[in-house]
Amino acid sequence: MSEYDLAIIGGGLGGASLGLAMARAGAKVVIIEREPEFRDRVRGEGVFPWGCVEAKALGIYDAVLAACGHEVRYWTVYPDPQTGVTRDFRVSTPSGLGMLNFHHERMQQAVAALAEAAGARFLRPAEAIGIRTGAAPEVMIRTARGEERLTARLVVGADGRALRVRGFAGFTAQREPDCLVVASTLYENVGLPDDSVHAAANMGLGQAILVYPLGGGTFRTYLIHRSNAQAHKFSGRRDAASFMAACRDTGGPAGWLDDARQAGLLASFEAASSWVDHPARDGVVLIGDAAGASDPAYGCGLSLTLRDARVLRDHLCAEPDWRRAAELYAAEHDRYFQAMKRITDWRTEMNYATGPAADARRARARPLLREDPTRAPDLHGLGPEAPSDAAAYRRYVGEA
Ligand SMILES: Cc1cc2nc3c(=O)[nH]c(=O)nc-3n(C[C@H](O)[C@H](O)[C@H](O)COP(=O)(O)OP(=O)(O)OC[C@H]3O[C@@H](n4cnc5c(N)ncnc54)[C@H](O)[C@@H]3O)c2cc1C
Repeated sequence: MSEYDLAIIGGGLGGASLGLAMARAGAKVVIIEREPEFRDRVRGEGVFPWGCVEAKALGIYDAVLAACGHEVRYWTVYPDPQTGVTRDFRVSTPSGLGMLNFHHERMQQAVAALAEAAGARFLRPAEAIGIRTGAAPEVMIRTARGEERLTARLVVGADGRALRVRGFAGFTAQREPDCLVVASTLYENVGLPDDSVHAAANMGLGQAILVYPLGGGTFRTYLIHRSNAQAHKFSGRRDAASFMAACRDTGGPAGWLDDARQAGLLASFEAASSWVDHPARDGVVLIGDAAGASDPAYGCGLSLTLRDARVLRDHLCAEPDWRRAAELYAAEHDRYFQAMKRITDWRTEMNYATGPAADARRARARPLLREDPTRAPDLHGLGPEAPSDAAAYRRYVGEA
């Protein structure tokens, strides 16, 4: 007889929201988190409308909103400094929801507190250092008291980009070659409205910015640029001024950074997707970035992580045989993760590919997309449910 129903490795959004939902469903849950407290690691801070549907289904939306959330209704793109083209999510998404933004570490703290309040045991600081897979899986952990073993009906790897559980449990991972880099920091005193995400691209420079209001006058700013041996990776205090200059050069409305002050870490990450096909095997199942880290240049990771937690919760609650529940989840994960990846790969090809064929594609497709933005699969409103078949591709690239 196992000590726990679920042993979840990683107490970030994926692990804590699954732990919360399963504890509420009556399961005995332990969440193992290595960090003594959450801190800014430069991560995702906006959930798209389709991810907000998942947050509501998991029962965390209202609590995160109350603790640290900032609802954002609009998405504004700036083809030039004088013109902003705005999408109103509330009237253009099936759910009628906008985005939910937050400081990542405050959101983590809020969801962890909910999980604990629902009865999940939150073990921290505690690091998972190994797993024994099989019919009665075990997790080896290290805490201040030394090393110990926990047994569970099912072990969940929710350890994010650390990716240790993939190795412990013998999953084979796929990783795309590096293509884009995401650099990011926080700004205060930005001259932009805080009810919209603001996006601009400078294809001459091959870079784009995304500015996410987090509430309280703070804006998470991402700069996305091509990855190559010459590309500078913005990081730390020494790059504060050059990062701001690069953001300015990328575009957005005139003067948006004139009075801005940096209010957080500056760091850069390679953005390539990395995933596991069929993330369930031998008593272990992966969720969130551990199952599939989608290219952060497109900001789908939080929404996908919530989808994983909700889908796994649904199968575990509906299917008494948890091995089978894990298999059903893994099959569903492959479908929606790959659908999302097709769409983000198309965007990378459209926006960042170089050479005559890429230039011709852009020259053909861009005017059509400006005239009719629904030619682009709706990453924000529909996510993986947006059509991503051959016909959708032809429509996106202006061949149909
Ligand atoms: C630069 C960047 C920008 C991003 N921007 C966006 C965005 O705009 N929108 C968006 O939706 N997504 C974005 N993402 C992705 C998003 O942040 C992730 O998809 C999401 O945080 C994944 O959640 P998770 O719970 O799977 O992993 P994490 O949040 O990484 O949580 C994993 C947890 O596991 C713990 N852990 C790791 N190893 C162990 C161990 N051995 N034992 C115990 N605990 C362990 C860690 O301490 C951590 O708390 C971005 C990512 C990056 C890198």
